[in-house]
Amino acid sequence: MFSLLKLYFIRILYVSMNELSLEKLRKKLKVLADAAKYDASCSSSGGARTRDAKGMGNVNGMGICHSYAPDGRCISLLKILLTNVCIYDCKFCVNRVSSDTERAKFTVDEIVWLTLEFYRRNYIEGLFLSSGIFNSSDETMEQLTAVARILRTKHFFNGYIHLKAVAGASQELIEKAGLYADRVSTNIEMPIQEDLDVLAPAKTISEAQNTMNDVKGRILEFKKPVKLANNVERKFAPAGQSTQMVVGATQTSDKIILKTSESLYSNFSLRRVFYSSYSPIPFADAILPSLKPSLKRENRLYQADWLIRFYGFDSNELFANSDHNLPLDLDPKTVWALNNRHYFPININTANREEILRIPGVGVRSVQKILQLRRSQKIRVQDLKRLGVVWKRAQFFVETYDSNYGLRSLNSHHLKSHLKPDEQLNFFDSLNATTGEI
Ligand code: SF4
Repeated sequence: MFSLLKLYFIRILYVSMNELSLEKLRKKLKVLADAAKYDASCSSSGGARTRDAKGMGNVNGMGICHSYAPDGRCISLLKILLTNVCIYDCKFCVNRVSSDTERAKFTVDEIVWLTLEFYRRNYIEGLFLSSGIFNSSDETMEQLTAVARILRTKHFFNGYIHLKAVAGASQELIEKAGLYADRVSTNIEMPIQEDLDVLAPAKTISEAQNTMNDVKGRILEFKKPVKLANNVERKFAPAGQSTQMVVGATQTSDKIILKTSESLYSNFSLRRVFYSSYSPIPFADAILPSLKPSLKRENRLYQADWLIRFYGFDSNELFANSDHNLPLDLDPKTVWALNNRHYFPININTANREEILRIPGVGVRSVQKILQLRRSQKIRVQDLKRLGVVWKRAQFFVETYDSNYGLRSLNSHHLKSHLKPDEQLNFFDSLNATTGEI
């Protein structure tokens, strides 16, 4: 996306800036768009807002980042860093203070201008703005907030804004940021403190959690819109808060990672936890893996995360016996079903919602449709196929009103091999990233 943006960028700027400014800004964009690619935490906003008479832009009901590139990146936000200058030395990060990467810093006005210009030309639907920590958490947060404030109250920008909430920034600044942004995210960086102690010793999980707690408190406090400058009305972070953790930089298991996520969801009402596979960086510390961990692992974590949030699974259920990592060859719901065959078959005509949600290949939306249809008729195989059930997986676990031959394999030793062909290794086949069907 960014190469496309860069092409447009040059054309846009040519008519409105002198050559010197153009070249400086182009260089900054190259550095700071590239540096932002390591942050995975932009996604569906969940906001619902339409353009008003004097504003520009809108956020549709499904959120502005609901489109994903095949590699999992969201593709419709201008995703940049305010700066990649950072006082911290997190070993897994290309922007750490000891890295000799090229540095750059936008001014607040430059980001405002870029956002508006790209938006007017329909290249983006909003802004995802993060930053390295320069000087202090407060100073960084202040400038991030200033971008959103100017966009909202001076230019009446109504598009999606996702701001980084800098861990340790003052409550006052976090409050301002949330009033201008749709979503804020505080990165926890690593799933456990022991990992931070090794790779980012100056950081603590508790500091990130304190900021998440501030955000949670403000979301509860500002349920009604607040009037800001120029009569702009805003709710506090209407699309909620999220976080991101790097996975695969240490030996920490999936089981521990998902335990952390479970506790973040329940303690801070997060909308999303993003898992970002560690990307090897130049001149990395020898303690870090030299190869990028499998993207499949990241996908399996997302699937498990969905099962915990929407399908009623507890993270412990997803790990059989002494396993600590999710199997890569099958999705976690299918693995659970294989390990718990006594739970099946589930009678689709009598089971309750929670039971039906446990059937591999039956997603949340399908369950709703099944329950609705069941009021007027008995459910047969063809009905399930028509309602969007992934029959190649569900057939072994579900009892229908008519004959379902797949059921004969439920207790077969070969069931796993029946499930393996054209495995669900592609995250986007087995889990719709927007709807979470799995
Ligand atoms: S604080 Fe953020 S930007 Fe700075 S080194 Fe750590 S991870 Fe990188």
